[in-house]
Amino acid sequence: MNETTSQTDSGKRYYIETYGCQMNEYDSSLVAGILEERGYEKSDLAEDADLILVNTCSVREKAEDTALQKLDSIAHLKRKRPGTRLGVIGCMAENRREQILARIPQVDLLLGPDHYDKLGSALDAGAPRRGATTGLGVDRNQTYEGFFPAAPSTVSAFVAIQRGCDKKCTYCIVPFTRGPERSRPSHDILEETRRLVDKGVVEINLLGQTVNSWRSDISFAQLLRELGRIDGVRRIRFTSPHPRHFTESVCLAMAETPAVCPHVHMPVQSGSSRVLRAMRRQYGRDQYLAIVERLRRHIPDVAITTDIIAGYPGETREEHLETLSLMEEVRFDSAFMFAYSARPGTPAALEPETISPQEKLARLQEIIELQQSHSAQRLSEQVGRIEEVLLEGSSRRDEREWIGKTPHFRKVLLHPGPEARPGTILPVRLLARRGTVLRGEVA
Ligand code: SF4
Repeated sequence: MNETTSQTDSGKRYYIETYGCQMNEYDSSLVAGILEERGYEKSDLAEDADLILVNTCSVREKAEDTALQKLDSIAHLKRKRPGTRLGVIGCMAENRREQILARIPQVDLLLGPDHYDKLGSALDAGAPRRGATTGLGVDRNQTYEGFFPAAPSTVSAFVAIQRGCDKKCTYCIVPFTRGPERSRPSHDILEETRRLVDKGVVEINLLGQTVNSWRSDISFAQLLRELGRIDGVRRIRFTSPHPRHFTESVCLAMAETPAVCPHVHMPVQSGSSRVLRAMRRQYGRDQYLAIVERLRRHIPDVAITTDIIAGYPGETREEHLETLSLMEEVRFDSAFMFAYSARPGTPAALEPETISPQEKLARLQEIIELQQSHSAQRLSEQVGRIEEVLLEGSSRRDEREWIGKTPHFRKVLLHPGPEARPGTILPVRLLARRGTVLRGEVA
């Protein structure tokens, strides 16, 4: 039993606004679990809540600006309802503490990613008379063992298996805000998965900054196999694997565990070995391509998606062309693509920017255009196939039209009939590509 289990706040309502990555989404559900154990109920509107939490992200400047603007508007709410508690959690609580308190003095609570277990005692202590209650700094042992997230409202749920990161890529703020890598014990992961299945979840998404470097009493490959043996787990995904840890045994576990989906999101960032070295990515172009080859050898139709950064400091035109040629070789199914932007506090931010903003955007545009053509080709190649589609829910425009996903993470629109329920898996014939989605009919 953790410190939060007494029902001391029954009747109160909480609202959480979440920015950033899937890990933040997971952390918000973890915090919601802590609050619900205390008797809090979820509110869909900040205006109705007794406790408002903003879970923030520092990965990109834009995410920080958006969260600060949201905090401004919530602070306005608090002026109208002074009893409301306002907390900032996540990476900005860790990274932008001074700036937040100077700009929004109404903040009562600041908790970094390793301190959510202190939420209960912070609430018990009441509103601070001056300043904010804080829980900050890296806790090298924090894995939230014994803490479980609130029940999800979807048939697919995240399960964080790792916290922090040991890789220290030069452009990334995560190792500073989330600290070193820690693996959650396997028994806790298996227990959380069983609880999710009991609540109707059929698909789990394992989360970690370098998820495949996870190791506790068993290896990551063994964990995949163990999870695949849990009754009711129909699909297993994981994100984001680091190329360096994509071993033969992980590929084999993927190929031999029917519940593990044939989709890998494996960030490449650049196609140039020199740029990858400058980024301290710990692999080169040839190693990345060898892992793609290994994956396709074990899982021939595997879908591969990626992240790409355009215009890293010092990247030459030739090195940018190497990224385009790697994209041609791999033909990714889709990609998240960004122009490099310096994050204060990272080693790369000390590098002189050698590429003009116009050139950076032009390179990004070339990457986007090439990827769009590959994405369209890869989707069109699926037309005519029959795939197992997991129904997620009906589309907003037309409630007879449902959205589902193939094991390869391709979105499908279909009319499955009145018996359709979220979580059902149906065989679907893929009829046509419509933009970035497929249309299908029950086979
Ligand atoms: S692997 Fe690199 S980019 Fe990913 S979280 Fe760790 S340091 Fe950041």
